[in-house]
Amino acid sequence: MPITIKNDREIAAMRAAGDVVSLVHERLQAAIEPGITPLDLDSIARDVIYGAGATSNFFGHHGFPGHICASVNERIVHGIPDGRPLQDGDIISVDVGAIVDGFHGDSAWTYAVGTVEPAVSRLLVDTEAALMEGIARAVPGNRLGAIGAAVEAFGLARGYGIVKGYGGHGIGRSMWEDPHIPNHGDPRKGPVLRKGMTLAIEPMFNLGAAGTLVGGDQWTVSTADGSWSAHFEHTIAVTDAGDGSPEILTPRRAAVIH
Ligand code: MG
Ligand code: MG
Repeated sequence: MPITIKNDREIAAMRAAGDVVSLVHERLQAAIEPGITPLDLDSIARDVIYGAGATSNFFGHHGFPGHICASVNERIVHGIPDGRPLQDGDIISVDVGAIVDGFHGDSAWTYAVGTVEPAVSRLLVDTEAALMEGIARAVPGNRLGAIGAAVEAFGLARGYGIVKGYGGHGIGRSMWEDPHIPNHGDPRKGPVLRKGMTLAIEPMFNLGAAGTLVGGDQWTVSTADGSWSAHFEHTIAVTDAGDGSPEILTPRRAAVIH
């Protein structure tokens, strides 16, 4: 399937979906503390999404039972929200999606629960920074591989395991459109980026090795070595406005201190 180019009206609809996703993250950020459970967070997200007149794009997708993905500590992505209370020092990646007027928004953030170890705090800071490095390459004329190459170089320089096999994607009328956006690559390869492409960019870094495994629930992806992992994601639009910077369609409503 070719990469779809969105017009201004379609990007406005994606901005609206992204606004709902951002609102969910603001509420979750305020709620995350020791003792709360991923199922509690799922309820908060559900209420915000439906309260805003949107729908969740995760719930029921291939039978997924949550409105968010909640991936704690060594879990990387696609964790099913469960009833285990979060503990001081944990981290939790929350992946949030919403649909407004048929268009999708998608953003994941990894939050510290209480006070985390310094190396874990660095992992969060660095994975968020890698996301911004990748986004900065999403400009007209660059090849798609420039995004993954930037993410990979940033992570490798800091000694992280770079998750392969899972990554970003085109997004729009579907949650997952072409192209797949790996977190590694060659800046000379891939399609040339154009104004109106809308992409979800989502680095995943492990404190240990890069290997992954899928859990017995057939959903949860964890690190093979049990090391902790972080995941940050924004939905962006490639623009030709001003300095050429991409527009982040799922902007943070509140700063996060890792
Ligand atoms: Mg996501
Ligand atoms: Mg995504």
